Amino acid sequence: MDLTDAHCHVAERAATAVLSGTPEEVGRWIDTGVDGVFSVGVHPWETAGASCDDLQRRVAEVARLAGLPQVVAVGETGLDALRGGDMQIQERVLCEHVRISERVGKPLVLHVVRSSHRIMASCRGMEREFKPAQLRQAWIWHGFRGGEEEARQFVRLRSRNYISLGYRFNAVAARSIPADRLLVETDDSAVTINEVALRVAEARGENVEAFMAQVRRNLHDAGIVRPCR
Ligand SMILES: [Zn+2]
Repeated sequence: MDLTDAHCHVAERAATAVLSGTPEEVGRWIDTGVDGVFSVGVHPWETAGASCDDLQRRVAEVARLAGLPQVVAVGETGLDALRGGDMQIQERVLCEHVRISERVGKPLVLHVVRSSHRIMASCRGMEREFKPAQLRQAWIWHGFRGGEEEARQFVRLRSRNYISLGYRFNAVAARSIPADRLLVETDDSAVTINEVALRVAEARGENVEAFMAQVRRNLHDAGIVRPCR
């Protein structure tokens, strides 16, 4: 298994990707013996129309699954101003995921749409709530399509913030991200991780093999580590 894809929803890609799903999906993947590593979370879109009881029950299931060795990350969770429930509810669910991530010692995968100022504020708020020494886990902003300034702000906020790029990204931002903070992903697209990597490496003017070697190191440094079998 050559893990290079930081975030993917397609179970057939389990050999190369961190498979990201809802608590129900990840529970099913594990029960049916999918041979891979997983990321589990309640997506911000799923907060729309959900009752408090339902959200609490699903977050509790995230917490249970997050403790399993096959689960290597928590999320995706985050904030989406265009889709999903009330922003206060999204923020509450995000905070629950941050707590789970810290408790189980696994990185957090973020979905952020038109909420970059809020995610930066949450990041700073969490720094205060947890104190830097307690907030240890990496945060991975997945499917980043923002600009150079947004990328710079997020990367500067914490030494453990990473940015994951998919097939579509802002090339100027891609060039500006420090090499040791960059990841790549296929998410739910049909392209392969090698195609994404080639595109990002070309945008940065880097050799793709060297770029992929760095991505593997970054996944490891971010705490995405496969369990020993
Ligand atoms: Zn996704």
